[in-house]
Amino acid sequence: MGNMRDLTLETFDGRAHIRGLQAPVPELSFVIPAYNEADTIIETLQRVSRKARKLTDHAEILVVDDGSTDATLEHVRTGQWEVPVRLLRLSRNFGKEQAIMAGLRHAAGRAVVILDADLQEPLRYVDTMLEKYREGYEVVYAVRAHRDDESRIKRRCTAAFYRFLNIGSDVTMPADARDFRLMDRKVVDALCALPENNRFMKGLYAWVGFKSLAIPVELQPRGGGVTKFNFGRLLKLGLTGLTAFTDWPLRIWTAIGMGLATLSILYGMFLAGRTVFVGHDVPGWSTLAVALFFFSGIQLMSIGVLGEYLARVFNEVKGRPGYLVAEDLDIPPAREC
Ligand code: UDP
Ligand code: MG
Repeated sequence: MGNMRDLTLETFDGRAHIRGLQAPVPELSFVIPAYNEADTIIETLQRVSRKARKLTDHAEILVVDDGSTDATLEHVRTGQWEVPVRLLRLSRNFGKEQAIMAGLRHAAGRAVVILDADLQEPLRYVDTMLEKYREGYEVVYAVRAHRDDESRIKRRCTAAFYRFLNIGSDVTMPADARDFRLMDRKVVDALCALPENNRFMKGLYAWVGFKSLAIPVELQPRGGGVTKFNFGRLLKLGLTGLTAFTDWPLRIWTAIGMGLATLSILYGMFLAGRTVFVGHDVPGWSTLAVALFFFSGIQLMSIGVLGEYLARVFNEVKGRPGYLVAEDLDIPPAREC
């Protein structure tokens, strides 16, 4: 009997199946989303399994293959690892947020560590995370110690994005937080129980709360391959975050509309007064034309903002799952000779 599972089509609330009832619950699960990481995945899994073995006798690694088109899947499948590896293959590329959720929903550990597959996040920080976890923190998350590796324009855009995101928000979403974090089972369960499909994980981590601690981390350059977050993807993720965590862009139009209406009334009164006291003044078509363009622009903009929010509502209402699991494979640890 092979250990490949049947094709599982999961709904968003499909919880991890209860695996081998006799098997001990893993102390620690590592969730690693991977999309076209053939250059680094072997090294990543070797390092993580070595680290996991040192930390506990009961660890598992969950690799979520997010529709890779290179050899990532083959490398994981045919590799020999020191701890049990579970490989979830998503049916296509669903994006990092969904890959993380797939991993969290299937992770069985009492604590779960999320880690990138590109060797950017040094594993020594997992020791610190565990130490703090044992001191009682339910979430220990990494924040970038600096952003010196990024261009000035990217840093500025990120800072502006988080400023907008945090306006009027009940929780503060830290700008430099990473997905790299250790979370207690309760926190993972809370994240999995949230019904929304359009996920902006950094917002959701903040939203669920719990006793959290940030630790600054020095990131390494990528071990190989290229970043998957180009400008287009970042913009899409940014819009998902804004529409999921703010409502002020919808509301400001009431204030803008009222402000403009008040100004128009005052201007109308001024014109009427001038006509009565000074006389009739015909020229003014340029004022009219400029006003027309300006207000058309404002109206289109407000409709556009409305459209963005409506699109998210539409997506949620359709109720499609955030991801589909096409294959779920257990890779037992290699025996020591
Ligand atoms: N990733 C993913 N699906 C995607 C894009 C990225 O699973 O659609 C994974 C990727 O393989 C890596 C992690 O998310 O393990 C972070 O991606 P990347 O290193 O490209 O982002 P950056 O570090 O540049 O922000
Ligand atoms: Mg990276």
